[in-house]
Amino acid sequence: MSNVLIVAEVQNQTIKPATLTAITFAREAATRTGGQVHAVVIGQGIDGAAQEMAKYVATVHAVDGDAYGHPLAEMYAQAIAGAQKASNAALICMAATAHGKDVLPRAAALLEAGMASDVLGFAEASGLAMRRPIQAGNVIATVEITSTIKLVSTRPTEFEAAAPAAQAGTVGALNVTLTAPKTRHVKFDKVTSERPELTDARVVVSGGRGLKDAESFHKLMEPLADKLGAAIGASRAVVDSGWVPNDLQVGQTGKVVAPELYIAVGISGAIQHVAGMKSSKAIVAINKDAEAPIFQIADYGLVADLFKAVPELMEKL
Ligand SMILES: Cc1cc2nc3c(=O)[nH]c(=O)nc-3n(C[C@H](O)[C@H](O)[C@H](O)COP(=O)(O)OP(=O)(O)OC[C@H]3O[C@@H](n4cnc5c(N)ncnc54)[C@H](O)[C@@H]3O)c2cc1C
Repeated sequence: MSNVLIVAEVQNQTIKPATLTAITFAREAATRTGGQVHAVVIGQGIDGAAQEMAKYVATVHAVDGDAYGHPLAEMYAQAIAGAQKASNAALICMAATAHGKDVLPRAAALLEAGMASDVLGFAEASGLAMRRPIQAGNVIATVEITSTIKLVSTRPTEFEAAAPAAQAGTVGALNVTLTAPKTRHVKFDKVTSERPELTDARVVVSGGRGLKDAESFHKLMEPLADKLGAAIGASRAVVDSGWVPNDLQVGQTGKVVAPELYIAVGISGAIQHVAGMKSSKAIVAINKDAEAPIFQIADYGLVADLFKAVPELMEKL
């Protein structure tokens, strides 16, 4: 019997939605290992978040302190290693968010454990072999971690958000002895936006190089996003040209999204872009080139000049 430990992510004193998707994976893992699901909540003043997490799992380890006031991977990784010992977990999982990608490999190194990143699910009806994408999502590999302790980051778009458990769990404080830090937090540049966050949005409107320049990008995409209550995304070509900041990039080296509706405007559909949005429920593409690869995965395709089609769409909306 081996327990499963989920690393919760806290944002504005609450549990981040992506964590709920990792709980779904953790529960399935626990049925396979025959253990219980524990969680670790790390931060400063995280009582509320720890109580919230206890609605989902049997035992919550709350690691609270000044050292965790900023999400420094060096400190958080030590807290995770401490929680592994407290929970006697053989499998540790966390959503593959920016923070998860930062902190989990460090924890794996501290625990001298193997890790699988961006896991999509289990490969077989039993056992712990897992599926993960390689080669920009064109190939799905089956991997097995052979170390005693195993770490897994899970792709949030592949799992439903977990519902609270029938019975709430308990919260206990956990003290972790930290080594002297070698990194320090300098500043946090917060992006303030009225729009939903790209990875949580129900609708994403994404623009590509077909929009010609930064001015047209903002002039056409922003009103469209606001009309639909959507988040704005972009191809790497747009980000590399400096039209929008790189936290809007969708794709292999950007964010992975799976909204109910994804509208690609002037995006060719290169495999590296598609890797970040192909799980969207409905894909709409507007492109003047009927041969553009984006049409191969689009549910609705409009072969048209976007400078005419987008204003017309706005008018109809
Ligand atoms: C290792 C690696 C990682 C990468 N990671 C990513 C990633 O994460 N995300 C990503 O997006 N890319 C990524 N790329 C880049 C990717 O290969 C493409 O170069 C990029 O996605 C192209 O962006 P685009 O579709 O906006 O531009 P283009 O390929 O130039 O396409 C522009 C499209 O706009 C259409 N168009 C032009 N004018 C109009 C008009 N008036 N009306 C309608 N349509 C019009 C054209 O027909 C064309 O299809 C990566 C590449 C590499 C090598």
